[in-house]
Amino acid sequence: MVEVPSRGATIAAWREQGGGIAAVFPIHHPRALWRAYGLLPVEVWGPPVTDTSRGDARLQAYTCSVVRCGLAFLESGGLEDVDLVVVPHACDSLQGLGSLLLDFAPPRQPVITPYIPRTRDAAAAEFLAHELRSVGLRLAEITGHQPDAAAVMACNQAEAQADRQRLALFEARRHLPLTNLEFYRLVRAREYLPAQDFAALAQAALAERIDEALPGPGVMLSGLLPEPMALLGVLDRAGAVVVADDYACSGRRHYRAGSSDEPWLNMAQSLLAGPPDPTLGHPIAQRVDHLVQACQSAGVDAVIFHGVKFCEPERFDLPMVQAGLQARLGLPCVDLEVDLASPLGHQAVTRIEALVEGLS
Ligand code: SF4
Repeated sequence: MVEVPSRGATIAAWREQGGGIAAVFPIHHPRALWRAYGLLPVEVWGPPVTDTSRGDARLQAYTCSVVRCGLAFLESGGLEDVDLVVVPHACDSLQGLGSLLLDFAPPRQPVITPYIPRTRDAAAAEFLAHELRSVGLRLAEITGHQPDAAAVMACNQAEAQADRQRLALFEARRHLPLTNLEFYRLVRAREYLPAQDFAALAQAALAERIDEALPGPGVMLSGLLPEPMALLGVLDRAGAVVVADDYACSGRRHYRAGSSDEPWLNMAQSLLAGPPDPTLGHPIAQRVDHLVQACQSAGVDAVIFHGVKFCEPERFDLPMVQAGLQARLGLPCVDLEVDLASPLGHQAVTRIEALVEGLS
């Protein structure tokens, strides 16, 4: 089994080579952009089960735990060593966090709040390319790097290759001799490994593919992120295999490569070419079509909607997405709502076990 480098070891190794670190809050962000300026993007999804009191003191009680945990982590010094904090404008909670960090409680590091447009046409790609160039000018001031067009394009290509490899992992899931927990530790290394290292790691995992398909009912997970990761252990013990993924941290980020020869437009095109996502304003019908196709091609037997409490974009769409999926495929599903600051509850465990038992 491949060994997945830890986040801490990856950061230390990158620093040893003289590189900087960008701490990036969810969800969509241009990985190639940070890399072109010598920064390694390390994503901050919580982290879960953090004492959130330092974040709670500055946020409304109905703010989601991704933002509460993330702010608490930052305020308690967890991001002290990073060189840049990035807060993409993914939702109202993250927009609020960005404003807080820019205007009211600025950290030691510069804060950048890129905006990803909610439409997918040529004008949106031009707008985003312009936005990325502007962020690049700011990064040049911060880092002193001045990458040329070829260097930016090389970063785009490296990220596209890593994205292809991650997609290949999901496509080969039934033939990879890994538990659900091991599989997600591997996939989630994309949140912090340099693209080239992730692509090599994925390639090594794919080389261990077995002919026989893993037994057990196939499950799709849909939501923000597989936290608490104890959920994956529950699925392992119940004998189910996660064969399809609609998580914001992974499956909704299978970006296709851009087509333009102009590196900034190419980067923008790729960022706009991911699967349907509620934080990017995709119509519900598109999401349902995408999920139906994903369930059919992966052989899904049940769907677990695994949302974060107070996540407005996700929760607003959920009843219609669930109804659409039910009408088209009639698959059993459960809806779990979690708080990253709490362990997985007994009730959630029982519901997952009951769901899988009913499939066997
Ligand atoms: S969990 Fe939902 S509300 Fe919270 S940061 Fe993510 S998208 Fe925004």
